[in-house]
Amino acid sequence: MNNHDSSNRPKSAKGVPHNVASLALFGGTPTVPRGTITAWPAATKEHLDALAEVVASGRYHRVNHYIVGNLEERFARWTGNWAVRAVGSGTAAIHIAIDYYKDRGSRVLTSALNWPGAVGPISSCGLEPTFVDVELNGAGIEPYAASKMLEPDVAAVLTTHLFGNNILVPNLRVSAREKGVALIDDVCQSIAATNPIVDGDYIDSDVLALSGNGAKHLGAGELGFVLTKDTSVIEHVDRVSLTSSSRDGARIFSPDSLGHNYRPNVFSAAVAHYRVKHLDQQLQGRRTNAATLWQGIRHLPGLLPLFDPCDKHNSVLSFPLRIVPEELGLPPGSAGRDLILKLLHAEGVPVCVWLTKPVFEYLPGTRGKWSKGDFPNTMLLLDTMLYVSEIAPPNDVDVMKLYINAFHKVWEALPNLSSQTTREC
Ligand SMILES: *Cc1c(COP(=O)(O)O)cnc(C)c1O
Repeated sequence: MNNHDSSNRPKSAKGVPHNVASLALFGGTPTVPRGTITAWPAATKEHLDALAEVVASGRYHRVNHYIVGNLEERFARWTGNWAVRAVGSGTAAIHIAIDYYKDRGSRVLTSALNWPGAVGPISSCGLEPTFVDVELNGAGIEPYAASKMLEPDVAAVLTTHLFGNNILVPNLRVSAREKGVALIDDVCQSIAATNPIVDGDYIDSDVLALSGNGAKHLGAGELGFVLTKDTSVIEHVDRVSLTSSSRDGARIFSPDSLGHNYRPNVFSAAVAHYRVKHLDQQLQGRRTNAATLWQGIRHLPGLLPLFDPCDKHNSVLSFPLRIVPEELGLPPGSAGRDLILKLLHAEGVPVCVWLTKPVFEYLPGTRGKWSKGDFPNTMLLLDTMLYVSEIAPPNDVDVMKLYINAFHKVWEALPNLSSQTTREC
């Protein structure tokens, strides 16, 4: 037996309040029974059928595979607006977009709360990222601060939509347009941002970059998409990504190719092609689950959403929240969040911490050049947020009710636990 285990579990200890002793972390019964939750990508037999079609086609790769073409067409139709090119990944899509606009300046504005892989391509294109803090609501780039930073050497604004949120920032888009700054949207986590989400209109953007990887809505393995209305951006996709196969099937060895070989995986394309067919149902299921979950926990003190509960166009990739430690008698910083995370996790709720550092600390080119202190909202979110990961169907409102029960159980015990944490810290 190790000491750590026994000291953490006051099983029948005298003086331990019942609501603490019944917590799963301390030996109580978990609220969400094992096996209740279906983890994304929620495999079904239809995915196997899609893969079998690739095998039967006798061809496992090439951008001119009919499955890739069918996927691009079906997805373009689903968006109702954009021309679509499938590429190897969401990161590849961002790289291609930034590469296209790189001659407009030497810097790209983007938020400090960001996915490192999304920011990496800025440097690959020979540009320098300039970081902007985020808004606490929505976790998107702070539009007022960003607008003031639109100097002549800014080539593009890379707006990152996290967790399924829509980052509309209309004024920032207008200012960028006036100054000839390109608008690139990383919608890897927000597939519905490709739909008309601005009072019935589409967001004003030059390129939307989407991921089809296994964790995202299309849950397809390794896949990405470039969406644009500009045919020359579409042509640029092939220039950056292809070396030896072309859309019309010719074997080309283009002297202009950057040769990144960002071809879409045909097996992934087959799964994505099937998923697009059911995308509306998937999104509806996610939104219903999120509304149920939020309704059930919104009255708990010290808990705030990182999404707009009224946004019916949210893609709900996950269900992000932040805690307000002071309101729960918990110490500031990340200790309170970490305690709550451990408690909920033990109850069987699939909760996670996203990243723990601002994006510039993850990348060798920017590490040490930026100061955390200049990004108070980013730091606050990094310290206090957590997200519920399994919010997609086939998990339904009954599963959400179990999550809700677990939150209530933990919150009831918190007053008896917070004094303990304060002492530990
Ligand atoms: C997933 C993701 C990416 C990268 O997509 P890949 O397909 O994994 O390369 C970029 N940005 C954000 C915000 C993402 O969530």
